[in-house]
Amino acid sequence: MTRRFSGQTLVIASHNKGKVVEITALLGGFVAGIVSAADLGLAEPEETGTTFIANAELKARAAASGAQRVALADDSGLVVPALGGAPGILSARWAGPDRDFAAAMARIHAELPPEADRHAYFVCALALAWPDGHCETVEGRAYGTLVPPRGSHGFGYDPIFQPNGFPQTYGEMNPVLKNHISHRNDAFLQLVQKCFA
Ligand code: IMP
Repeated sequence: MTRRFSGQTLVIASHNKGKVVEITALLGGFVAGIVSAADLGLAEPEETGTTFIANAELKARAAASGAQRVALADDSGLVVPALGGAPGILSARWAGPDRDFAAAMARIHAELPPEADRHAYFVCALALAWPDGHCETVEGRAYGTLVPPRGSHGFGYDPIFQPNGFPQTYGEMNPVLKNHISHRNDAFLQLVQKCFA
């Protein structure tokens, strides 16, 4: 049976300040307080899962067990079916230690044969874990097409992703609009409905 969150402090299983701010804005109204894994001095586990959901789950479970509180983790990336799903769960790693996303975007275009199907989608998996190991998960998606890089907003692979139904790439889009139609928004709406509302 689905387990719902009820009013305690929520741990965000991330050391990324921007992510914690973003999640606080989305879920702050549903929880008594928010604290990050960094604030609690919790170590970040290695992402050894083979799916977005598995990686979100292992991060959420580690934080919930370390903090003895309910913890939320996410895992996201870009899936290109014509590349067998790459970069997928390795999306951040394709940019290397220097976080060189220009190189990662160039690699995607270089590895796609000219006539290949250029459809792609972003995934955002969310996992909410309790200290007893129970976990609720959702997966949000945003579908689109890969194009040569355009625009300087956003981060990561935004300049090469043109979401279905829009003339701009994520990189050209007003960030408010991107956040409204994104895989992350889709995932959070699902999670709020399932566990918070
Ligand atoms: P993580 O889930 O924070 O580890 O992010 C995984 C990687 O996926 C990021 O480093 C980005 O490369 C990519 N990614 C996830 N969401 C987005 C997005 O909204 N735009 C562009 N790239 C994204």
